[in-house]
Amino acid sequence: MEEIIEYLKNRQGEMLELVEDLVKMESPSQEPILTSQIAEYLTICFTKMTEGTYTRISSDEYTDHIRAEWGTGEEQLLILTHFDTVWPQGTIEEMPFYVEDGKAYGPGTFDMKAGIVQALFAIQAIHELNIHLNKKIVLLMTSDEELGSPTSKEAIMEEAEKSSHVFVMEPPLGENGALKTARKGVGTFDVSVTGVSSHAGIEPEKGASAITELAEQITYLSSLTDLVKGTSVNVGIIDGGSSKNVVAEEAHAVVDVRVQTQEEMDRVVPLIEALSPQDDEVKIEVTGEIYRPPLERTDEIEALFDQASVLSKKYLGFELEEESTGGGSDANFTAELAPTLDGLGAVGDGAHASHEHVIIEEMPKRSALLAMLLVTCGQSK
Ligand SMILES: [Zn+2]
Repeated sequence: MEEIIEYLKNRQGEMLELVEDLVKMESPSQEPILTSQIAEYLTICFTKMTEGTYTRISSDEYTDHIRAEWGTGEEQLLILTHFDTVWPQGTIEEMPFYVEDGKAYGPGTFDMKAGIVQALFAIQAIHELNIHLNKKIVLLMTSDEELGSPTSKEAIMEEAEKSSHVFVMEPPLGENGALKTARKGVGTFDVSVTGVSSHAGIEPEKGASAITELAEQITYLSSLTDLVKGTSVNVGIIDGGSSKNVVAEEAHAVVDVRVQTQEEMDRVVPLIEALSPQDDEVKIEVTGEIYRPPLERTDEIEALFDQASVLSKKYLGFELEEESTGGGSDANFTAELAPTLDGLGAVGDGAHASHEHVIIEEMPKRSALLAMLLVTCGQSK
């Protein structure tokens, strides 16, 4: 283990250079020309650094995802990364890459280009140090995570099913870099209300207001929130009506739903789907779903976290922390299929914010933590 740490600490400069390269290659999810350039570059890096192989997984709408593989073995360990960012093309002009006080700033540094770099170097360390594993390592690099992984979800779940463990390179939480051992499930629902329009001054009695109905439904939806159980139902957007003197025919709401447990998901979702109008002249249509199920902290996840925590204490000299978060990631898809540890990416701050950065000297340490987990899990039966 010590040689892994030594190897990676000596590569801090190279790691930073690769982060800079990747950040300068802008990669908003919806710009396939840009994302295909970074995907291409990452395949070159991977093959050069690890002598591994890769295949492309086609994504109809976005850029192909990359499935990179190193080593041999019937079983596999899975590492999840995504190379898309939320930052539109041209952001790099106003928010350039720079280094100050031991931190590297720039769009996508923290979420999650430095995380990809840590994963690449972790595999390189195992490769160059000739450490034998009984399992192969599969590194998925996807192009649409920030959109909810619409075209990569299937491949992610398929690979997770074949894996003994899944490691997710999303950033950890807070300045101590806590791993994420629980994540809420996330869903979006659209509520469309259709009423009967009429002139509000001349014949209001002939109308049935979609807005009044929606107002009732909003109060009901909000009442489904149960913060103690980690459930929130937030009506985030509303619109409706055509003119102040018309009884509204249409009204519409977009609802964000977060649930901490499967039990709460099973309670709340049917209630939302079954919304029924107070006014029988009005119709309600609900569409949407929980697109990322909750990641619950299972015994297997706890055991994997404990393993990481022993390694970090013994070899890296720090106490690893764990937290739960309301945000979803690809870990939500895999936790049911294989023990999953999330938040193994770069320590820093400011995901999706203008002060986005990573702490440079933490990069080799977190890369070493991943490498040690790969070795421990890869050498076990
Ligand atoms: Zn991310």
